[in-house]
Amino acid sequence: MSDKVAVVTGGAGFLGSHLCDRLINENIKVICLDNLLTGRLENIEHLFGLENFQFVKLDVTNFIHVPSSVDYVLHFASPASPIDYLKLPIQTLKVGSLGTHKALGLAKDKKARFLLASTSEVYGDPMIHPQKEDYWGNVNPVGPRGVYDEAKRFAEAITMAYQRYHNLETRIVRIFNTYGPRMRLDDGRALPTFFSQALQGQDITVYGNGKQTRSFCFVSDLIDGIYKLLMSGEVLPVNIGNPEEITIEDFAKEVIQITNSKSRIIYKDLPIDDPQIRQPDISKAKTILNWSPKVSREEGLKITLDYFKTMIFLQ
Ligand code: UDP
Repeated sequence: MSDKVAVVTGGAGFLGSHLCDRLINENIKVICLDNLLTGRLENIEHLFGLENFQFVKLDVTNFIHVPSSVDYVLHFASPASPIDYLKLPIQTLKVGSLGTHKALGLAKDKKARFLLASTSEVYGDPMIHPQKEDYWGNVNPVGPRGVYDEAKRFAEAITMAYQRYHNLETRIVRIFNTYGPRMRLDDGRALPTFFSQALQGQDITVYGNGKQTRSFCFVSDLIDGIYKLLMSGEVLPVNIGNPEEITIEDFAKEVIQITNSKSRIIYKDLPIDDPQIRQPDISKAKTILNWSPKVSREEGLKITLDYFKTMIFLQ
């Protein structure tokens, strides 16, 4: 029985809640912080009542006070879908900058290990393919996506500064597109939007010509990679994602097929600065973490479809 304690910011979100589950399964006590701006209590309600779980409704851009000892701080709080961060630009910038500063401050005070949830968005609309950790990216700081991308780039910089100047133990994961149960059907991302449209017989809205690519990772694989990174000694950023790449148009067809839907595809304007290609190079994670994704898209989408069906039934 471990007596370790982890603080998870954004613990009621899609990824944060799966992370809470994993840490509890590893016998780590979890203190989950969330202001419920984009997170949802439904994601963590199965954990209420467990001795190893505590939820505190808190905006982590303010001072974070945790009375107990803390061994790990995992900073996952942030709006993360393009629609959310376009709607909440200031909050997104604040949680990536002030929130990361507060979470680092907590880790420093408690002498805890800190893990930052960073993103493939630090690569922007990438000029190299697939993306490797030593690529510095192609980000438009003043475009609409800049609020998320630059906040996460700042978060990486301040994390490295705490590591170098305060000798804090830090880890940085760059998360690529991830999907699975607990994704909000209305979060605006391609995957839940396509499923929601297909299941309700609505037109599937592909942006641009649909030739842009993404690589989708099932949530259990991602969480496994993050846990391995947390327990490793690697200080520099590590990509975690599934390298299996698909165009958004082909993905829309796949969703129509798997849902047996009669929906048709319609084409809409491509959002500004939408990355044209995205695929993680995961050789670093393979080598240093002995990690690679296990769940195929076919398998992962089936599990996710069952979840989305229940969500639509409950609407
Ligand atoms: N997309 C789309 N239709 C939608 C939502 C998104 O074609 O209804 C496109 C979007 O323009 C992007 C890709 O799908 O090229 C993935 O977008 P998503 O919002 O899932 O996240 P991103 O990977 O851009 O952060």
